[in-house]
Amino acid sequence: MIDSFIQTDVCIIGAGPAGAAASLTLSQKCVSHILVDSAVFPRHKPCGDIITSGVLRAMDLLDPEILRVLKSRDLVNPVWTTHVYPPNGNPITIDFLEFDRKEGEPSCYSLSRFDMDQVILEQVQKSEFATVYQGCRITDIDHQPDAVILTSDQGFQIMARLVIVATGSNNNILKQIGLSVPRKDSAIGIRAHFENIDFEKSETSLFLDSGIMPGGLYITPLPGNSFNVNLVVSLDKVSVENLNLREEFDKVIESNPILKQRFQNGRRIGNFEGSMLFLGVRKRVIAGNRFLVIGDSAGLIEFFSGNGIPQALLSGRMAAQKAIQAIQNSDFSKEFLSRFEDELYHKIKQNYAMGRVVYPLLHRRFFSRFVLKFLNYLSGRRQTNVLVRDLLYQKDPSKLALSPRFLYQLLIQR
Ligand SMILES: Cc1cc2nc3c(=O)[nH]c(=O)nc-3n(C[C@H](O)[C@H](O)[C@H](O)COP(=O)(O)OP(=O)(O)OC[C@H]3O[C@@H](n4cnc5c(N)ncnc54)[C@H](O)[C@@H]3O)c2cc1C
Repeated sequence: MIDSFIQTDVCIIGAGPAGAAASLTLSQKCVSHILVDSAVFPRHKPCGDIITSGVLRAMDLLDPEILRVLKSRDLVNPVWTTHVYPPNGNPITIDFLEFDRKEGEPSCYSLSRFDMDQVILEQVQKSEFATVYQGCRITDIDHQPDAVILTSDQGFQIMARLVIVATGSNNNILKQIGLSVPRKDSAIGIRAHFENIDFEKSETSLFLDSGIMPGGLYITPLPGNSFNVNLVVSLDKVSVENLNLREEFDKVIESNPILKQRFQNGRRIGNFEGSMLFLGVRKRVIAGNRFLVIGDSAGLIEFFSGNGIPQALLSGRMAAQKAIQAIQNSDFSKEFLSRFEDELYHKIKQNYAMGRVVYPLLHRRFFSRFVLKFLNYLSGRRQTNVLVRDLLYQKDPSKLALSPRFLYQLLIQR
């Protein structure tokens, strides 16, 4: 039986990667806190199910047990290659480097979010400093001068000195604290699992097509025999052109000769699930009096790859560190907490620099057509694969991309 009124220094709403990362960091520093989630884990979460080196590094900092447990339960599948298919059907192929140059260590894995989020939550629950309530939705937030009162649908209230919002793409809590996400900065995705489609187990594929730009169809092999197939398209395009994503999904597969052939014996397992993606294409207000916003709620998904787990883990860790400072200083003001905003945006400025400029342009038909034509051109050139991989592994890709030598090799050299 839960008391009808619980007090805590920190309450985290949402136990996905962002909220769990915040919880693990608070526990490392022996800070008692509450973590609530409306779902009961394991729960399904529409995702591309890919984790990259950024996630592996962040997991290692949070708790090396996470990856060890995932591996010991055979829940991860190594991914060594990705193919980007422009409309001409010639893939640009990127072979990933080994993780931190350790022989045989992949820098990318695929895994089901159903399993990953469950394993992370198991680690969270091992700590005596974390009190976790599952199946508990926060329905109302009331800002008082000295605390925030959270009302749950389980009939109890939580009084917190600081709230960390990690509710993913569920907008309700954001709206209650006066924050909204513009349609232009969002995308929408649907995903389904398939078996018997003709793709390699160690490779992911991204198919681009003018009908779904800005967006793409991603295919990820999962441990076992199934594949995750997900279509992500800009929300603005979906609303302006009144697209039905489910129909677009079939259309892309039917109209692309490679996909059509590889799906000919394919069978869908289970239903389609959908979710919004709040993209990292402009800075947002993500700190205020007594609150910090992290993960997808803060709009941190990289616009091109659709990857958001690295930023979810990073922002969760940084928010917890700021929460600890706030408790030590007894300062939960907007002025103090806003430093989290500056520090986080500084860390991920590369994502924004690109997203801010390129994402709005991709909504212009002439520009997205130009990009596809350009990719068609690059896909026919021998050196493209290695040059694109070099770009991916750069600390500052824009610096390399604009260097005359790189441009010469990419565009002109035969
Ligand atoms: C189609 C698609 C493909 C993607 N592919 C990839 C990929 O391959 N790789 C990658 O890195 N990223 C990918 N992403 C992005 C990735 O899924 C997110 O960035 C990641 O899940 C963010 O984690 P989070 O903790 O912020 O949010 P979530 O994982 O969404 O967790 C939020 C949690 O908050 C809970 N919650 C919501 N409202 C309340 C409430 N009121 N009270 C209590 N609890 C609440 C929810 O139940 C949920 O468990 C993809 C996203 C989509 C939609």
